[in-house]
Amino acid sequence: MTTQSRFRHQVWLECAACKHRVPFVRTIKACERCGHDWLDARYDYETVRKLWPDVLRERPFDMWRYRELLPLRDDAHKVTMGEGGTPLLRATNLGMMLGCPNIYIKDERQGPTGSFKDRQASLAISVMKEQGITEAVLASTGNVAISYSAYSALAGIKLWAFLTSLVPSEKMREVALYGTEVIKVTGTYDQTKKVAADFAARKGLFADQGIRSISSRESMKTVAFEVAEQLPQLIGPGKTPWATPDWYFQAVSGGMGPVGFWKAYEEMMLLGLVDRMPKLACIQATGCAPMVNSFKRGLEEAEPVLNPQTRVITIATGNPGPAYNYLARVIREHGGAFEAVTDEETFRAMHVMAKLDGISMEPAAAAAFAGLFKLLSQGVVRRDEVIVVNCSGHTFPVEKHLLGEEWLQTIELPTEKFATEAPTEGLLGSLGQLDGRVRTIAIIEDDPKARLLLRRILQTRGDYQIFEASDGAMGLEMVRRERPDIILMDLMMPGMDGFELLEALKADERARDIPVIVISAKELTPAERERLSGQIETLMQKGDFTDEELLEEILKRAS
Ligand SMILES: *Cc1c(COP(=O)(O)O)cnc(C)c1O
Ligand SMILES: [Zn+2]
Repeated sequence: MTTQSRFRHQVWLECAACKHRVPFVRTIKACERCGHDWLDARYDYETVRKLWPDVLRERPFDMWRYRELLPLRDDAHKVTMGEGGTPLLRATNLGMMLGCPNIYIKDERQGPTGSFKDRQASLAISVMKEQGITEAVLASTGNVAISYSAYSALAGIKLWAFLTSLVPSEKMREVALYGTEVIKVTGTYDQTKKVAADFAARKGLFADQGIRSISSRESMKTVAFEVAEQLPQLIGPGKTPWATPDWYFQAVSGGMGPVGFWKAYEEMMLLGLVDRMPKLACIQATGCAPMVNSFKRGLEEAEPVLNPQTRVITIATGNPGPAYNYLARVIREHGGAFEAVTDEETFRAMHVMAKLDGISMEPAAAAAFAGLFKLLSQGVVRRDEVIVVNCSGHTFPVEKHLLGEEWLQTIELPTEKFATEAPTEGLLGSLGQLDGRVRTIAIIEDDPKARLLLRRILQTRGDYQIFEASDGAMGLEMVRRERPDIILMDLMMPGMDGFELLEALKADERARDIPVIVISAKELTPAERERLSGQIETLMQKGDFTDEELLEEILKRAS
Protein backbone atom coordinates (compact mmCIF):
# COMPACT_ATOMS: atom_id res chain seq x y z
CA MET A 1 0.00 0.00 0.00
CA THR A 2 1.11 3.55 -0.62
CA THR A 3 -0.83 4.81 2.35
CA GLN A 4 1.76 3.94 4.96
CA SER A 5 2.82 7.50 5.66
CA ARG A 6 -0.79 8.58 5.68
CA PHE A 7 -2.16 9.49 9.06
CA ARG A 8 -4.97 7.28 10.38
CA HIS A 9 -6.16 7.29 13.90
CA GLN A 10 -8.83 6.19 16.24
CA VAL A 11 -11.56 8.50 17.53
CA TRP A 12 -14.32 7.55 19.95
CA LEU A 13 -17.60 9.18 20.85
CA GLU A 14 -18.19 9.14 24.59
CA CYS A 15 -21.56 9.76 26.21
CA ALA A 16 -21.35 12.69 28.65
CA ALA A 17 -23.85 10.97 30.98
CA CYS A 18 -22.91 7.25 31.13
CA LYS A 19 -19.42 7.40 29.51
CA HIS A 20 -20.35 4.66 27.03
CA ARG A 21 -17.93 4.74 24.07
CA VAL A 22 -18.32 3.89 20.41
CA PRO A 23 -15.84 4.38 17.56
CA PHE A 24 -16.57 7.55 15.57
CA VAL A 25 -17.41 6.38 12.07
CA ARG A 26 -20.61 8.27 11.36
CA THR A 27 -22.69 11.03 12.86
CA ILE A 28 -24.93 9.75 15.65
CA LYS A 29 -27.29 11.95 17.59
CA ALA A 30 -27.58 10.19 20.95
CA CYS A 31 -25.96 7.58 23.16
CA GLU A 32 -27.11 4.12 22.07
CA ARG A 33 -27.08 2.91 25.67
CA CYS A 34 -28.78 5.69 27.66
CA GLY A 35 -30.16 8.02 24.99
CA HIS A 36 -28.31 11.10 26.28
CA ASP A 37 -27.69 13.55 23.45
CA TRP A 38 -24.33 15.10 24.36
CA LEU A 39 -21.41 13.08 23.04
CA ASP A 40 -17.76 14.07 23.23
CA ALA A 41 -14.89 13.04 20.99
CA ARG A 42 -12.14 11.12 22.81
CA TYR A 43 -8.66 10.23 21.63
CA ASP A 44 -5.66 8.22 22.67
CA TYR A 45 -4.19 10.91 24.95
CA GLU A 46 -1.26 8.77 26.13
CA THR A 47 0.07 8.49 22.60
CA VAL A 48 -0.48 12.19 21.96
CA ARG A 49 1.36 13.11 25.15
CA LYS A 50 4.44 11.25 23.90
CA LEU A 51 4.12 12.32 20.29
CA TRP A 52 3.46 16.05 20.39
CA PRO A 53 6.65 17.48 21.89
CA ASP A 54 8.61 16.12 18.92
CA VAL A 55 6.21 16.28 16.02
CA LEU A 56 4.81 19.73 16.71
CA ARG A 57 8.24 21.27 16.29
CA GLU A 58 8.28 20.09 12.67
CA ARG A 59 4.76 21.09 11.68
CA PRO A 60 3.56 24.32 10.06
CA PHE A 61 1.55 26.67 12.25
CA ASP A 62 -1.98 25.98 11.06
CA MET A 63 -4.93 24.25 12.69
CA TRP A 64 -4.02 20.84 11.33
CA ARG A 65 -0.86 20.67 13.41
CA TYR A 66 -3.13 19.39 16.20
CA ARG A 67 -4.65 16.73 14.01
CA GLU A 68 -4.19 13.90 16.57
CA LEU A 69 -6.95 15.61 18.54
CA LEU A 70 -9.22 16.18 15.56
CA PRO A 71 -11.87 13.61 14.57
CA LEU A 72 -10.83 13.02 10.97
CA ARG A 73 -9.57 9.49 10.60
CA ASP A 74 -7.70 9.67 7.33
CA ASP A 75 -5.64 12.63 6.09
CA ALA A 76 -6.62 11.77 2.53
CA HIS A 77 -9.96 13.44 3.20
CA LYS A 78 -8.56 16.67 4.51
CA VAL A 79 -10.08 19.76 2.86
CA THR A 80 -7.80 22.65 3.60
CA MET A 81 -7.03 26.20 2.48
CA GLY A 82 -4.55 27.34 5.12
CA GLU A 83 -7.11 27.97 7.87
CA GLY A 84 -6.03 28.56 11.44
CA GLY A 85 -2.56 29.59 12.50
CA THR A 86 -3.80 33.13 12.94
CA PRO A 87 -1.71 35.76 14.74
CA LEU A 88 -2.15 36.64 18.39
CA LEU A 89 -1.68 40.40 18.47
CA ARG A 90 -1.11 42.68 21.41
CA ALA A 91 -3.76 45.42 21.47
CA THR A 92 -1.23 48.19 22.02
CA ASN A 93 -3.22 51.39 21.81
CA LEU A 94 -6.38 49.89 23.24
CA GLY A 95 -4.40 48.41 26.14
CA MET A 96 -2.84 51.80 26.77
CA MET A 97 -6.23 53.51 26.78
CA LEU A 98 -7.80 50.95 29.09
CA GLY A 99 -4.75 50.59 31.31
CA CYS A 100 -4.45 46.87 30.50
CA PRO A 101 -1.02 45.82 29.27
CA ASN A 102 -2.12 42.28 28.43
CA ILE A 103 -4.99 42.36 25.96
CA TYR A 104 -4.37 40.00 23.05
CA ILE A 105 -6.38 39.73 19.88
CA LYS A 106 -6.73 36.33 18.23
CA ASP A 107 -7.05 37.64 14.72
CA GLU A 108 -9.50 35.25 13.12
CA ARG A 109 -10.21 37.70 10.33
CA GLN A 110 -7.17 36.20 8.66
CA GLY A 111 -8.88 32.96 7.67
CA PRO A 112 -9.59 32.10 4.02
CA THR A 113 -13.11 33.58 4.16
CA GLY A 114 -12.43 36.05 6.94
CA SER A 115 -13.98 34.46 10.02
CA PHE A 116 -13.20 31.72 12.51
CA LYS A 117 -15.87 29.59 10.84
CA ASP A 118 -13.11 28.56 8.45
CA ARG A 119 -11.75 26.19 11.11
CA GLN A 120 -15.19 24.69 11.48
CA ALA A 121 -15.75 24.43 7.73
CA SER A 122 -12.37 22.84 7.08
CA LEU A 123 -12.91 20.07 9.62
CA ALA A 124 -16.64 19.58 9.13
CA ILE A 125 -16.37 19.40 5.33
CA SER A 126 -13.39 17.03 5.64
CA VAL A 127 -15.40 14.73 7.90
CA MET A 128 -18.39 14.93 5.51
CA LYS A 129 -16.07 13.90 2.70
CA GLU A 130 -14.75 11.04 4.81
CA GLN A 131 -18.31 9.90 5.44
CA GLY A 132 -19.15 10.04 1.74
CA ILE A 133 -21.60 12.94 1.94
CA THR A 134 -22.03 14.80 -1.35
CA GLU A 135 -24.95 17.09 -0.64
CA ALA A 136 -25.81 18.96 2.57
CA VAL A 137 -28.13 21.54 4.07
CA LEU A 138 -27.40 24.24 6.61
CA ALA A 139 -28.96 27.30 8.20
CA SER A 140 -26.79 30.27 8.96
CA THR A 141 -26.62 33.86 10.12
CA GLY A 142 -24.04 34.37 7.37
CA ASN A 143 -20.53 33.27 8.15
CA VAL A 144 -21.07 29.51 8.36
CA ALA A 145 -22.74 29.66 4.96
CA ILE A 146 -19.86 31.62 3.42
CA SER A 147 -17.19 29.40 4.87
CA TYR A 148 -18.91 26.05 4.27
CA SER A 149 -19.64 27.17 0.71
CA ALA A 150 -15.96 27.82 0.01
CA TYR A 151 -14.85 24.46 1.42
CA SER A 152 -17.74 22.59 -0.18
CA ALA A 153 -16.67 23.97 -3.53
CA LEU A 154 -13.23 22.53 -2.95
CA ALA A 155 -14.59 19.19 -1.76
CA GLY A 156 -17.24 18.78 -4.46
CA ILE A 157 -20.17 18.89 -2.08
CA LYS A 158 -23.42 20.55 -3.09
CA LEU A 159 -24.71 22.92 -0.45
CA TRP A 160 -28.12 24.39 0.34
CA ALA A 161 -27.83 27.47 2.56
CA PHE A 162 -30.90 28.81 4.37
CA LEU A 163 -30.24 32.39 5.44
CA THR A 164 -32.43 34.74 7.40
CA SER A 165 -33.49 37.76 5.39
CA LEU A 166 -31.59 39.96 7.83
CA VAL A 167 -28.22 38.68 6.61
CA PRO A 168 -26.60 41.57 4.70
CA SER A 169 -27.03 41.11 0.96
CA GLU A 170 -23.24 41.40 0.52
CA LYS A 171 -22.88 38.18 2.49
CA MET A 172 -25.69 36.44 0.62
CA ARG A 173 -24.04 37.26 -2.69
CA GLU A 174 -20.76 35.82 -1.50
CA VAL A 175 -22.50 32.56 -0.59
CA ALA A 176 -24.10 32.43 -4.04
CA LEU A 177 -20.80 33.16 -5.73
CA TYR A 178 -19.41 29.84 -4.47
CA GLY A 179 -22.23 28.02 -6.24
CA THR A 180 -24.33 27.31 -3.16
CA GLU A 181 -28.12 27.32 -3.46
CA VAL A 182 -29.22 30.31 -1.39
CA ILE A 183 -32.65 30.32 0.21
CA LYS A 184 -33.61 33.51 1.97
CA VAL A 185 -36.11 32.97 4.78
CA THR A 186 -38.06 35.94 6.09
CA GLY A 187 -38.05 34.99 9.74
CA THR A 188 -35.73 34.62 12.71
CA TYR A 189 -32.67 32.42 12.68
CA ASP A 190 -34.43 29.80 14.79
CA GLN A 191 -37.31 29.65 12.31
CA THR A 192 -34.79 29.45 9.48
CA LYS A 193 -33.10 26.48 11.18
CA LYS A 194 -36.47 24.72 11.38
CA VAL A 195 -37.20 25.32 7.68
CA ALA A 196 -33.74 24.01 6.75
CA ALA A 197 -34.17 20.88 8.90
CA ASP A 198 -37.59 20.16 7.36
CA PHE A 199 -36.17 20.61 3.87
CA ALA A 200 -33.26 18.24 4.62
CA ALA A 201 -35.59 15.62 6.08
CA ARG A 202 -37.94 15.82 3.10
CA LYS A 203 -35.12 15.48 0.57
CA GLY A 204 -33.22 12.93 2.67
CA LEU A 205 -30.13 15.14 2.78
CA PHE A 206 -27.45 15.47 5.41
CA ALA A 207 -28.18 18.42 7.70
CA ASP A 208 -25.52 20.27 9.65
CA GLN A 209 -25.97 19.50 13.35
CA GLY A 210 -24.92 22.87 14.74
CA ILE A 211 -23.56 22.61 18.28
CA ARG A 212 -24.22 18.84 18.22
CA SER A 213 -21.81 18.39 15.35
CA ILE A 214 -18.69 16.73 16.75
CA SER A 215 -16.45 18.02 14.00
CA SER A 216 -17.67 21.62 14.39
CA ARG A 217 -17.09 21.67 18.11
CA GLU A 218 -13.76 19.91 17.89
CA SER A 219 -12.51 22.37 15.26
CA MET A 220 -12.90 25.25 17.71
CA LYS A 221 -10.38 23.63 20.03
CA THR A 222 -7.67 24.70 17.65
CA VAL A 223 -8.19 28.35 18.61
CA ALA A 224 -7.25 27.42 22.17
CA PHE A 225 -4.30 25.19 21.23
CA GLU A 226 -2.86 28.03 19.20
CA VAL A 227 -3.42 30.63 21.91
CA ALA A 228 -1.80 28.33 24.48
CA GLU A 229 1.24 27.91 22.24
CA GLN A 230 1.46 31.59 21.27
CA LEU A 231 1.00 33.16 24.69
CA PRO A 232 4.39 32.28 26.25
CA GLN A 233 6.10 34.26 23.48
CA LEU A 234 4.10 37.32 24.49
CA ILE A 235 3.91 37.08 28.27
CA GLY A 236 7.10 35.13 28.89
CA PRO A 237 7.62 31.46 29.80
CA GLY A 238 5.84 29.93 32.78
CA LYS A 239 5.93 26.67 34.69
CA THR A 240 4.26 24.70 31.90
CA PRO A 241 5.23 24.48 28.22
CA TRP A 242 2.04 26.23 27.09
CA ALA A 243 0.03 28.98 28.80
CA THR A 244 -3.49 29.79 29.93
CA PRO A 245 -4.95 33.29 29.63
CA ASP A 246 -6.97 34.53 32.60
CA TRP A 247 -9.86 35.29 30.24
CA TYR A 248 -11.16 34.20 26.85
CA PHE A 249 -13.66 36.68 25.38
CA GLN A 250 -15.95 35.82 22.53
CA ALA A 251 -19.23 37.01 21.10
CA VAL A 252 -21.53 34.03 21.35
CA SER A 253 -24.55 32.77 19.46
CA GLY A 254 -24.58 28.97 19.32
CA GLY A 255 -21.63 28.78 21.70
CA MET A 256 -19.42 26.58 19.54
CA GLY A 257 -16.33 28.71 20.14
CA PRO A 258 -16.23 28.78 23.95
CA VAL A 259 -17.34 25.13 24.21
CA GLY A 260 -14.43 24.11 21.97
CA PHE A 261 -12.03 26.45 23.74
CA TRP A 262 -12.91 24.90 27.09
CA LYS A 263 -12.59 21.32 25.86
CA ALA A 264 -9.18 22.10 24.41
CA TYR A 265 -7.96 23.34 27.79
CA GLU A 266 -9.32 20.20 29.45
CA GLU A 267 -7.28 18.17 27.00
CA MET A 268 -4.18 20.32 27.50
CA MET A 269 -4.52 19.71 31.24
CA LEU A 270 -4.64 15.97 30.55
CA LEU A 271 -1.52 16.26 28.42
CA GLY A 272 0.34 18.28 31.07
CA LEU A 273 0.77 21.24 28.69
CA VAL A 274 -0.95 23.74 31.02
CA ASP A 275 -1.82 23.70 34.72
CA ARG A 276 -4.96 25.78 34.94
CA MET A 277 -8.21 26.58 33.14
CA PRO A 278 -9.17 29.99 31.69
CA LYS A 279 -12.29 31.95 32.57
CA LEU A 280 -14.78 32.23 29.72
CA ALA A 281 -16.57 35.50 28.95
CA CYS A 282 -19.55 34.93 26.66
CA ILE A 283 -20.89 38.17 25.20
CA GLN A 284 -24.30 38.59 23.54
CA ALA A 285 -26.33 41.49 22.17
CA THR A 286 -28.90 42.86 24.63
CA GLY A 287 -31.60 42.45 21.97
CA CYS A 288 -30.84 38.73 21.74
CA ALA A 289 -29.16 37.52 24.92
CA PRO A 290 -30.82 34.24 25.90
CA MET A 291 -27.70 32.88 27.61
CA VAL A 292 -26.98 36.07 29.54
CA ASN A 293 -30.57 36.50 30.68
CA SER A 294 -31.03 32.85 31.59
CA PHE A 295 -27.79 32.77 33.56
CA LYS A 296 -28.61 35.94 35.47
CA ARG A 297 -31.94 34.39 36.41
CA GLY A 298 -30.25 31.18 37.49
CA LEU A 299 -32.12 29.04 34.96
CA GLU A 300 -31.05 25.46 34.27
CA GLU A 301 -32.28 25.57 30.68
CA ALA A 302 -31.94 28.59 28.41
CA GLU A 303 -35.13 30.48 27.80
CA PRO A 304 -35.18 31.27 24.06
CA VAL A 305 -35.60 34.81 22.76
CA LEU A 306 -38.43 34.56 20.25
CA ASN A 307 -38.07 37.95 18.67
CA PRO A 308 -34.41 39.04 18.47
CA GLN A 309 -33.93 42.81 18.33
CA THR A 310 -30.38 43.49 17.26
CA ARG A 311 -28.52 44.68 14.21
CA VAL A 312 -25.70 42.29 15.04
CA ILE A 313 -27.22 39.53 12.91
CA THR A 314 -24.28 37.12 13.08
CA ILE A 315 -25.01 36.40 16.75
CA ALA A 316 -28.79 36.70 16.69
CA THR A 317 -29.48 33.12 17.80
CA GLY A 318 -32.56 33.14 19.96
CA ASN A 319 -32.34 29.53 21.12
CA PRO A 320 -28.86 28.52 22.25
CA GLY A 321 -29.83 24.92 23.01
CA PRO A 322 -27.45 22.65 24.95
CA ALA A 323 -24.45 24.98 24.66
CA TYR A 324 -26.08 27.05 27.37
CA ASN A 325 -26.20 24.15 29.81
CA TYR A 326 -22.56 23.39 29.12
CA LEU A 327 -21.30 26.96 29.42
CA ALA A 328 -23.50 27.85 32.39
CA ARG A 329 -22.07 24.87 34.28
CA VAL A 330 -18.49 25.81 33.38
CA ILE A 331 -18.94 29.44 34.39
CA ARG A 332 -20.77 28.54 37.58
CA GLU A 333 -18.01 26.14 38.61
CA HIS A 334 -14.91 27.92 37.37
CA GLY A 335 -15.75 31.62 37.21
CA GLY A 336 -16.16 33.61 34.02
CA ALA A 337 -19.02 35.79 32.85
CA PHE A 338 -22.06 36.11 30.67
CA GLU A 339 -22.61 39.74 29.65
CA ALA A 340 -24.79 41.61 27.19
CA VAL A 341 -23.91 44.75 25.25
CA THR A 342 -26.13 47.14 23.33
CA ASP A 343 -25.73 47.59 19.59
CA GLU A 344 -24.50 51.14 20.29
CA GLU A 345 -21.77 49.80 22.56
CA THR A 346 -20.85 47.24 19.91
CA PHE A 347 -20.64 49.76 17.07
CA ARG A 348 -18.61 52.09 19.24
CA ALA A 349 -16.17 49.28 20.04
CA MET A 350 -15.97 48.45 16.34
CA HIS A 351 -15.07 52.02 15.50
CA VAL A 352 -12.57 52.31 18.36
CA MET A 353 -10.73 49.12 17.37
CA ALA A 354 -10.42 50.29 13.78
CA LYS A 355 -9.32 53.81 14.72
CA LEU A 356 -6.91 52.91 17.49
CA ASP A 357 -5.34 49.61 16.53
CA GLY A 358 -6.09 49.37 12.82
CA ILE A 359 -8.34 46.35 13.18
CA SER A 360 -11.56 46.56 11.24
CA MET A 361 -13.90 43.81 12.32
CA GLU A 362 -17.50 42.85 11.86
CA PRO A 363 -20.03 43.91 14.51
CA ALA A 364 -20.25 40.41 16.00
CA ALA A 365 -16.53 40.45 16.72
CA ALA A 366 -16.78 43.96 18.13
CA ALA A 367 -19.42 42.79 20.61
CA ALA A 368 -16.69 40.80 22.38
CA PHE A 369 -14.62 43.97 22.76
CA ALA A 370 -17.62 45.95 23.99
CA GLY A 371 -18.14 43.18 26.56
CA LEU A 372 -14.54 43.51 27.66
CA PHE A 373 -14.93 47.27 28.13
CA LYS A 374 -18.01 46.64 30.23
CA LEU A 375 -16.58 43.91 32.45
CA LEU A 376 -13.44 45.99 33.01
CA SER A 377 -15.45 48.98 34.12
CA GLN A 378 -17.49 46.74 36.44
CA GLY A 379 -14.29 45.37 37.96
CA VAL A 380 -15.21 41.79 36.98
CA VAL A 381 -12.04 41.68 34.87
CA ARG A 382 -8.93 43.11 36.51
CA ARG A 383 -6.63 45.36 34.53
CA ASP A 384 -3.55 43.22 35.22
CA GLU A 385 -5.12 40.02 33.90
CA VAL A 386 -4.13 38.32 30.67
CA ILE A 387 -7.05 38.68 28.29
CA VAL A 388 -7.52 37.03 24.91
CA VAL A 389 -10.31 38.36 22.72
CA ASN A 390 -11.43 36.43 19.68
CA CYS A 391 -11.63 38.86 16.79
CA SER A 392 -13.96 36.42 15.13
CA GLY A 393 -14.66 38.00 11.75
CA HIS A 394 -13.67 40.77 9.35
CA THR A 395 -15.94 43.60 8.42
CA PHE A 396 -17.96 43.93 5.30
CA PRO A 397 -18.27 47.60 4.34
CA VAL A 398 -21.95 47.63 5.16
CA GLU A 399 -22.02 49.51 8.45
CA LYS A 400 -22.63 52.87 6.82
CA HIS A 401 -24.26 54.41 9.85
CA LEU A 402 -21.00 54.18 11.82
CA LEU A 403 -19.35 56.94 9.88
CA GLY A 404 -22.15 59.50 9.91
CA GLU A 405 -22.67 61.91 7.04
CA GLU A 406 -19.30 63.59 6.75
CA TRP A 407 -16.93 60.70 6.30
CA LEU A 408 -15.80 61.80 2.87
CA GLN A 409 -14.88 65.03 1.17
CA THR A 410 -15.18 65.45 -2.56
CA ILE A 411 -13.03 67.49 -4.85
CA GLU A 412 -14.60 68.30 -8.20
CA LEU A 413 -12.33 69.10 -11.07
CA PRO A 414 -13.51 70.81 -14.24
CA THR A 415 -14.05 67.75 -16.42
CA GLU A 416 -13.03 69.12 -19.81
CA LYS A 417 -9.55 70.04 -18.58
CA PHE A 418 -9.04 67.04 -16.37
CA ALA A 419 -7.53 64.68 -18.86
CA THR A 420 -5.00 66.99 -20.44
CA GLU A 421 -3.72 69.57 -18.02
CA ALA A 422 -1.33 69.42 -15.13
CA PRO A 423 -2.75 70.34 -11.69
CA THR A 424 -3.83 73.95 -11.76
CA GLU A 425 -4.49 76.75 -9.36
CA GLY A 426 -8.00 75.37 -9.15
CA LEU A 427 -6.85 72.03 -7.82
CA LEU A 428 -4.47 73.57 -5.32
CA GLY A 429 -7.32 75.78 -4.20
CA SER A 430 -9.53 72.75 -3.66
CA LEU A 431 -6.89 71.05 -1.59
CA GLY A 432 -6.78 74.13 0.58
CA GLN A 433 -10.41 73.50 1.50
CA LEU A 434 -9.33 70.30 3.20
CA ASP A 435 -7.36 72.15 5.85
CA GLY A 436 -10.38 73.51 7.65
CA ARG A 437 -9.85 75.27 10.94
CA VAL A 438 -6.79 73.75 12.55
CA ARG A 439 -6.41 73.67 16.31
CA THR A 440 -2.97 73.16 17.77
CA ILE A 441 -2.32 70.80 20.63
CA ALA A 442 0.83 70.16 22.63
CA ILE A 443 1.41 66.71 24.09
CA ILE A 444 4.03 66.60 26.84
CA GLU A 445 4.55 63.02 27.91
CA ASP A 446 7.63 60.84 28.38
CA ASP A 447 6.12 57.46 27.48
CA PRO A 448 6.23 57.08 23.69
CA LYS A 449 3.35 54.61 23.70
CA ALA A 450 1.13 57.02 25.60
CA ARG A 451 2.10 59.82 23.19
CA LEU A 452 1.20 57.59 20.29
CA LEU A 453 -2.20 56.81 21.78
CA LEU A 454 -3.00 60.49 22.37
CA ARG A 455 -1.84 61.43 18.89
CA ARG A 456 -3.92 58.62 17.42
CA ILE A 457 -7.06 59.72 19.25
CA LEU A 458 -6.57 63.28 18.02
CA GLN A 459 -5.74 62.24 14.45
CA THR A 460 -9.06 60.46 14.08
CA ARG A 461 -10.70 63.87 14.20
CA GLY A 462 -8.50 65.21 11.44
CA ASP A 463 -8.28 68.88 12.33
CA TYR A 464 -5.55 69.08 14.94
CA GLN A 465 -1.97 70.08 14.50
CA ILE A 466 0.00 68.16 17.10
CA PHE A 467 3.30 69.04 18.77
CA GLU A 468 5.03 66.55 21.02
CA ALA A 469 7.68 66.77 23.70
CA SER A 470 9.04 63.97 25.85
CA ASP A 471 9.92 65.91 29.01
CA GLY A 472 9.04 69.04 30.93
CA ALA A 473 11.91 71.25 29.80
CA MET A 474 11.39 70.50 26.11
CA GLY A 475 7.68 70.87 26.65
CA LEU A 476 8.08 74.33 28.10
CA GLU A 477 10.23 75.45 25.22
CA MET A 478 7.78 73.99 22.72
CA VAL A 479 4.81 75.72 24.32
CA ARG A 480 6.63 79.06 24.28
CA ARG A 481 7.51 78.59 20.63
CA GLU A 482 4.26 77.15 19.26
CA ARG A 483 1.68 78.70 21.57
CA PRO A 484 -0.78 75.80 21.22
CA ASP A 485 -4.51 76.11 21.84
CA ILE A 486 -4.38 73.42 24.50
CA ILE A 487 -1.81 71.35 26.41
CA LEU A 488 -2.10 67.67 27.32
CA MET A 489 0.51 66.70 29.88
CA ASP A 490 1.73 63.93 32.13
CA LEU A 491 2.84 64.52 35.72
CA MET A 492 5.59 61.97 36.19
CA MET A 493 8.43 62.86 33.84
CA PRO A 494 12.22 62.76 34.15
CA GLY A 495 13.92 66.09 34.82
CA MET A 496 11.33 68.83 35.11
CA ASP A 497 8.17 66.99 36.15
CA GLY A 498 4.60 68.03 35.50
CA PHE A 499 4.21 70.02 38.70
CA GLU A 500 7.28 72.13 37.95
CA LEU A 501 6.27 72.51 34.34
CA LEU A 502 2.87 73.83 35.43
CA GLU A 503 4.50 76.36 37.71
CA ALA A 504 6.77 77.53 34.90
CA LEU A 505 3.82 77.82 32.53
CA LYS A 506 1.76 79.82 35.00
CA ALA A 507 4.71 82.14 35.59
CA ASP A 508 4.98 82.87 31.87
CA GLU A 509 2.47 85.43 30.84
CA ARG A 510 2.36 84.21 27.21
CA ALA A 511 1.58 80.64 28.29
CA ARG A 512 -0.44 81.24 31.43
CA ASP A 513 -3.86 81.21 29.73
CA ILE A 514 -3.45 78.07 27.66
CA PRO A 515 -5.79 75.42 29.07
CA VAL A 516 -4.06 72.34 30.47
CA ILE A 517 -5.41 68.80 30.72
CA VAL A 518 -3.34 66.55 32.95
CA ILE A 519 -3.31 62.86 32.08
CA SER A 520 -1.62 60.91 34.81
CA ALA A 521 -1.11 57.37 35.99
CA LYS A 522 -0.33 58.63 39.48
CA GLU A 523 -2.66 58.39 42.45
CA LEU A 524 -2.43 61.94 43.75
CA THR A 525 -1.89 62.80 47.42
CA PRO A 526 -4.09 65.55 48.88
CA ALA A 527 -1.05 67.87 48.87
CA GLU A 528 -0.49 67.20 45.17
CA ARG A 529 -4.13 67.81 44.39
CA GLU A 530 -3.80 71.11 46.20
CA ARG A 531 -0.82 72.03 44.01
CA LEU A 532 -2.86 71.35 40.87
CA SER A 533 -6.06 73.04 41.89
CA GLY A 534 -6.83 76.16 39.95
CA GLN A 535 -3.87 75.48 37.65
CA ILE A 536 -5.41 72.95 35.31
CA GLU A 537 -8.76 72.41 33.61
CA THR A 538 -9.09 68.67 34.02
CA LEU A 539 -7.31 65.74 35.57
CA MET A 540 -7.71 62.46 33.72
CA GLN A 541 -6.56 59.10 34.99
CA LYS A 542 -4.50 57.02 32.56
CA GLY A 543 -6.28 53.85 31.56
CA ASP A 544 -9.57 55.24 32.76
CA PHE A 545 -10.98 57.35 29.95
CA THR A 546 -12.19 56.62 26.47
CA ASP A 547 -11.20 58.37 23.26
CA GLU A 548 -14.62 60.05 23.16
CA GLU A 549 -14.24 61.41 26.68
CA LEU A 550 -10.87 62.92 25.90
CA LEU A 551 -12.10 64.52 22.68
CA GLU A 552 -15.05 65.96 24.54
CA GLU A 553 -12.79 67.51 27.17
CA ILE A 554 -10.62 69.04 24.47
CA LEU A 555 -13.61 70.44 22.59
CA LYS A 556 -14.91 72.00 25.80
CA ARG A 557 -11.59 73.71 26.51
CA ALA A 558 -10.27 74.69 23.14
CA SER A 559 -13.21 75.78 21.05
C1 LIG B 1 -20.30 32.39 14.50
C2 LIG B 1 -19.73 33.65 14.96
C3 LIG B 1 -19.78 34.01 16.32
C4 LIG B 1 -20.44 33.15 17.36
O1 LIG B 1 -19.82 31.91 17.48
P1 LIG B 1 -20.32 30.74 18.43
O2 LIG B 1 -19.12 30.35 19.21
O3 LIG B 1 -20.77 29.63 17.56
O4 LIG B 1 -21.41 31.23 19.30
C5 LIG B 1 -19.17 35.19 16.66
N1 LIG B 1 -18.58 36.00 15.76
C6 LIG B 1 -18.52 35.69 14.46
C7 LIG B 1 -17.85 36.62 13.51
C8 LIG B 1 -19.09 34.50 14.02
O5 LIG B 1 -19.02 34.21 12.72
ZN1 LIG C 1 -25.03 7.20 27.67
